[in-house]
Amino acid sequence: MVSKRHHMRGRQARPTRTDNRICAHNPKHNAKPKPTNHPDAPCAECGSLVHQLGGHPNANTPYGYLKGCLPCNTKDHSISTCPRYRGSARRRQLFYWYRTMREGLCPGEWHEDPREIANMSGLYTLQHMPRRPDFALQYPYEHPEAFQPPAKGGDPEELRRDPYWMSDKAWEYVGMFTNLEARTNSDFRRLDPESIEYLEYIEDIRENLRGQIVDGQSSKPTLLQLCNFSDVYDMLKPVTDNRTSDERIYDWEIDLNFSPASIGGLCHPRAESYDQSGFPARDDTPGPKPPSAPGSYTQPTQSGFDA
Ligand SMILES: [Zn+2]
Ligand SMILES: [Zn+2]
Repeated sequence: MVSKRHHMRGRQARPTRTDNRICAHNPKHNAKPKPTNHPDAPCAECGSLVHQLGGHPNANTPYGYLKGCLPCNTKDHSISTCPRYRGSARRRQLFYWYRTMREGLCPGEWHEDPREIANMSGLYTLQHMPRRPDFALQYPYEHPEAFQPPAKGGDPEELRRDPYWMSDKAWEYVGMFTNLEARTNSDFRRLDPESIEYLEYIEDIRENLRGQIVDGQSSKPTLLQLCNFSDVYDMLKPVTDNRTSDERIYDWEIDLNFSPASIGGLCHPRAESYDQSGFPARDDTPGPKPPSAPGSYTQPTQSGFDA
């Protein structure tokens, strides 16, 4: 025998016509709400209909990053905490959403330096780099809601790329552009820069870059970039010529003295002090100069930076 109270509870739990989550009568009434990345969904940041969060050009944090999960088009979580993409599926999404789609735009929310995202072939490369956070804050796109990403039919010429990635410093201080504010899972915690694990991790990247040079990969760094990144130049040279070690080192010093980065400008991964823009201090080489004022931006030349 069913008590009146039990009966009432049953009535309340029964789906009604106005409850669009569950309908026992007509399956069409049970359509799931559209996912946040449905093709019709507007940009989670600005409401634009010509791009979604993955193509939103400007930062939405004071740190110069775009907060949110780019493939999901939501600000509710980061890709590290994404319920949809986990493990290897997440890694497969990274290069597309956080490199290819971010080229010339501010970096997305990710707890590593963008240079630490390997491409689909497992190579570390400077192709498709997002802007540095400071550069993104200094030179935001003027009408972000109208921005059309090249991957969605926009003009690649409209991208205002960060000239830093064409400089000889482009491989320096890997880890420097880590987003310390990025939301992460505990198993994605950032390695301690002083730990053996971190040093081994960085050495893996070096090995990868060195292999690219030896194999003649198209995405390889220049020797000077690799010098700046690491101390492996003299380990590379024996592969590319047959001079003696002393001759190679002598030539290397000559090269560097006539290059934009002198020997004193080589990477020191544990710099003691930082300049006012947060870069590790250096006293001899002029840093890359961004264009003089917002609005006067011109596309950087291949050789460096426009005056
Ligand atoms: Zn937007
Ligand atoms: Zn997500």
